[in-house]
Amino acid sequence: MMSNMIKQITEKITERLPEKVKLAKVEFEGPEVVIYTKNPEIIKDNGNIIRELAKDTRKRIIIRSDKSVLTPPTETIEKIEEIVPSDAEITDISFDDVTCEVIIESKKPGLVIGKYGTTSREIVKQTGWAPKILRTPPINSETIRKIRLTLRKNSKERKEFLQKLGKRIHREALFDNDWVRLTSLGGFREVGRSCLFLQTPNSKVLLDCGVNVAGVDDKTAFPFLNVPEFNLNDLDAVILTHAHLDHSGFIPYLYHYGYEGPVYCTTPTRDVTTLLQQDHLDISHREDKPLPFNIKDVKEALNKTITLDYGEVTDISPDIRLTLHNAGHIVGSAMAHLHIGDGKHNFVYTGDFKNEKSRLLEPSVSRFPRIESMVMESTYGGHEDVTPTRNTAEKELIKSIYSTLNGGGKVLIPVFAVGRAQEIMIVLEEYINHGILKDVPVYIDGMIWEATAIHTAHPEFLSKDLRDQIFHIGKNPFTSEVFKKVTNNEQRQKLIDSKEPCIILSTSGMLTGGNSVEYFKNLCEDSNNSIIFVGYQSEGSLGRRIQKGFDEIPLETNGVTELYNVNLKVVTVDGFGGHSDRKQLMEYVRKLSPKPDKILVCHGDAYKALDLASSIYRSYKIETKTPMNLETTRLQ
Ligand SMILES: [Zn+2]
Repeated sequence: MMSNMIKQITEKITERLPEKVKLAKVEFEGPEVVIYTKNPEIIKDNGNIIRELAKDTRKRIIIRSDKSVLTPPTETIEKIEEIVPSDAEITDISFDDVTCEVIIESKKPGLVIGKYGTTSREIVKQTGWAPKILRTPPINSETIRKIRLTLRKNSKERKEFLQKLGKRIHREALFDNDWVRLTSLGGFREVGRSCLFLQTPNSKVLLDCGVNVAGVDDKTAFPFLNVPEFNLNDLDAVILTHAHLDHSGFIPYLYHYGYEGPVYCTTPTRDVTTLLQQDHLDISHREDKPLPFNIKDVKEALNKTITLDYGEVTDISPDIRLTLHNAGHIVGSAMAHLHIGDGKHNFVYTGDFKNEKSRLLEPSVSRFPRIESMVMESTYGGHEDVTPTRNTAEKELIKSIYSTLNGGGKVLIPVFAVGRAQEIMIVLEEYINHGILKDVPVYIDGMIWEATAIHTAHPEFLSKDLRDQIFHIGKNPFTSEVFKKVTNNEQRQKLIDSKEPCIILSTSGMLTGGNSVEYFKNLCEDSNNSIIFVGYQSEGSLGRRIQKGFDEIPLETNGVTELYNVNLKVVTVDGFGGHSDRKQLMEYVRKLSPKPDKILVCHGDAYKALDLASSIYRSYKIETKTPMNLETTRLQ
């Protein structure tokens, strides 16, 4: 059945290509059409042909060389070094025999690509190898290094997987697209374990598959995958909006129980997800609370991940096209737009989103080609959820730090490793470099460093201001000398014992474990020091107790509980969050273009979700619904 479609596409390609082009074969690899040819240089020189072909076939088209025309590797490396200017700072060149790609890692990938792609085309022309150009992050990231290595090692299996998937995606649609249904499997009228199951007559797709890290047992921690209509073998795709564990944490479980299909997300989401999933497994081992999957499943998910850029339209099943759009929540976060049944129905799932520009990211996208139905988050959807603007928040933060440093004290900022930490780092770097804050060391402890390194590998996903600063002025705030990496206890003890004022960023953000608790123990009795909360502190966490102003707190060290006197200043600064507040959520619906016929509200405590849903209905006359977990809603 698929041979039909590939035959039609091959015919179209043969029609369009110059006569001298020798086609070796045309095949599907996942959602893409790959053309193997003995003279790739001719196609590469005719960029418009490929663009027209892509438009005509509505497919993404990749050109690769037939094995017979490849230059031997050593010669290829020499040629690449000749062709690419030395200021591209190539750090590694390796070869993938399966895909006939030469993988070039460079500190300035733009120079390997060249103006309008001229340099990379020259590489194809002279060597036959198709260059795959990757950025060497300015801060070394172990996660990215391991991910790239794993993918390279698994190239053969991955190609087989993509070929099989290509057939599945391009199978014949058997039924009329006369309905779309959405089942809420988790994260409705609650925050945590987000999981949406979307069905059409022809396909079944999962959007997010998270865990509730605060869940007490399997019934509250994991999504309801045991509903009768959900079957791993029928699943066409998993779409992941962003890396946070409440959206990504249960994906390895799907592979553990036999899912063989793809996960679609952006590249930063893939990288941060891998980091967080590994960390989740590590913590669960340490705390002796085993998860129902293991590290093999995390790797399997990685091997089956297909990354997409914002705005890239991709077939994921016979009747669904997926496009990801910036959500402004954390690096790589996306809203998912599904174009179903040749446009009969268009669906948007917002995931978590921030409808305000931050230091790190652009605000979420609010214009879509079409929308009939939408699922939106409501974390801060209650009437009372009004947070100060970024600007006010920054001023508050700087004021508190300023007074502590002037008094000779140390500042502890407990943060979550991804997003908030980088946001605060950019602010600190700017104020220190402008001389407003004292030039004190900013210690970066634990996973924050690794998460920051991943950010530096994907500058194209950061805000325009930040990109301009990095690319045009050549000043990357993350690589600034004010930041000092802390990796071991000796370094920790040294900075605690030192009399010098400093700023410490450490995980976990709610002091539920990690080094932030150790710092707190050492800093809390001195009234010159301060702790500044920049994120949500959940009920029952140590962070919340400190925030509430407890004078004495019992804490355990190596099995012995001691009473600590809390004398340090406790400050809370709101407004750095990655979510839209109530006003921004309402404003988002007002801005939305076009307006959907129906909005389902998710990802918020029941009363907040209901409050937001009824306000949207009253203000905009859009039908709203706040489904419970396990409810199915007909969208079309
Ligand atoms: Zn999130």
